[in-house]
Amino acid sequence: MQYPEPISKLMEGFMKLPGIGPKTASRLAFFVLDMKEDDVLDFAKALVNAKRNLTHCSMCHNITDSDPCPLCSDTKRDHSMICVVQDPKDVIAMEKMKEYFGLYHVLHGAISPMDGVGPEDIKVPELLKRLQDDEVQELIIATNPNIEGEATAMYISRLVKPTGIRVTRIAHGLPVGGDLEYADEVTLSKAIEGRREL
Ligand SMILES: [Zn+2]
Repeated sequence: MQYPEPISKLMEGFMKLPGIGPKTASRLAFFVLDMKEDDVLDFAKALVNAKRNLTHCSMCHNITDSDPCPLCSDTKRDHSMICVVQDPKDVIAMEKMKEYFGLYHVLHGAISPMDGVGPEDIKVPELLKRLQDDEVQELIIATNPNIEGEATAMYISRLVKPTGIRVTRIAHGLPVGGDLEYADEVTLSKAIEGRREL
């Protein structure tokens, strides 16, 4: 039996999300049918608003609703330090720790030759450009502790070190192969404390 068209449309929508196969999509679609209309409307509005009102900060490339973002425009933060992360979610993880008060740079990915992702495909050129005009003294590379994250750290380090900027890599208290965003605050804080020169 075929699903009525509005349901299959909804299922198709859910299946575009990561990690959602046909089974979960149908469960979610039927769940939506049982939701109160107001809740469905709020949810739909939240989806559209997030997409329309959020943009990338032109400095750090984090997602933001104002440009430059509140972190980059905060004069109380240490503008001589930039923490390089792969994903906007990593900034949230770092900020939860409340021990880092420098700036960020979000790469939106990691170098992965196997998947055809080179430095130009992530925000590496933007980072290098930023280092030219800023009074940056230290780059803390906090890419994920897996092959792609390490390759990215090495690549950036090779390019930046000759400029005299200190390049450090957060320590491996983090589980190897793990994602920064899943690290708890204590582990993350130790990883920053124990960062080493690259
Ligand atoms: Zn920013």
